[in-house]
Amino acid sequence: MKKHNFSAGPSILPQEVLQKASEAVGNFNNENLSLLEISHRSKSFVEVMETAKSLALELLGLENKGYKALFLQGGASTQFLMTAYNLLDKKAAYLNTGTWADKAIKEAKLFGNLVEVASSKDKNFNYIPKGYEIPSDADYFHCTSNNTIFGTQIKSFPTFNGSTVCDMSSDIFSRQLDFSKFDLIYAGAQKNMGPAGTTLVIIKEDILGKVDRVIPSMMNYQTHISKESMFNTPPVFPVYVSMLTLKWLKDLGGIPFIEKVNQKKADLLYNEIDNNTLFNGIAAKEDRSLMNATFALTDTSLQEPFDMLCEEAGISGLKGHRSVGGYRASMYNALPLYSVQALVDVMQELERIKK
Ligand SMILES: *Cc1c(COP(=O)(O)O)cnc(C)c1O
Repeated sequence: MKKHNFSAGPSILPQEVLQKASEAVGNFNNENLSLLEISHRSKSFVEVMETAKSLALELLGLENKGYKALFLQGGASTQFLMTAYNLLDKKAAYLNTGTWADKAIKEAKLFGNLVEVASSKDKNFNYIPKGYEIPSDADYFHCTSNNTIFGTQIKSFPTFNGSTVCDMSSDIFSRQLDFSKFDLIYAGAQKNMGPAGTTLVIIKEDILGKVDRVIPSMMNYQTHISKESMFNTPPVFPVYVSMLTLKWLKDLGGIPFIEKVNQKKADLLYNEIDNNTLFNGIAAKEDRSLMNATFALTDTSLQEPFDMLCEEAGISGLKGHRSVGGYRASMYNALPLYSVQALVDVMQELERIKK
């Protein structure tokens, strides 16, 4: 039987998507060729790219609103610098909510002045800062919607008159938001959309072209927009699998449907964390992520029996990030409710044996 996969990333994908992806590696579209050995300019692959882009915009409710979707390479980490390359003229404002935000800040500093509007570093990023001010003359405001490592998630985004840029790598397509409040959204595929190897960028075209510097072609969003995300050979397999996952999500009922399932999963687990005497939640309650739940044993000597029970139950990928410790259960869109139930059962089992 397949394991209960709580991996933080690369992470679980829908079983039917994996099945279809493996078929396409053997024989794509009944063309008697593998998806991996055809031209990216072939009619069938161009159709895959077009479908993937339009599904992404459709699911986010951003069709016909001046947005373009791109499937780029270099991970979300390349977006840390690419956003600043294309948008930072004089000054940018950044919210520091953890490791990934911190890395984005480090890259952006290479391109201009940067204001850190707030940081939760004082408490090892276990909460989301609130009530900060964004300088009105900032070229853009950058934030990280979900902090994969620390298990926090922004529930309410600040209003800002300038452009808003958001790293949504670990919670894109997981909850309903007014996505039109964002001017640029980026997300590495490997958390909630597909395999590692491509990064989705959703960009409002009119925010571009406002900086003076010369931007190398590959780093320039306008290059990729003008070539329909086909300026160079795109990562065909990750784009194909992302397209399948987006289709899977649309057929289920899109974000409104999956948000309800995600809420159910998170409620089930957090409820156990709060009621089980052997566990504590790590992130501040009001900022808890629906995607990544961080928690720890109250008595670390129970680690061995707990890990053993998890292994016996087929639970995989629960180890916390080294900078936080404890455990982290990643509950991305493709993780079924019964996997969360399996984890809760093990937590209750541990409490039973310890009494
Ligand atoms: C995983 C992750 C990244 C890094 O993504 P890469 O594709 O490995 O560069 C950036 N931001 C967030 C929020 C992440 O979860």
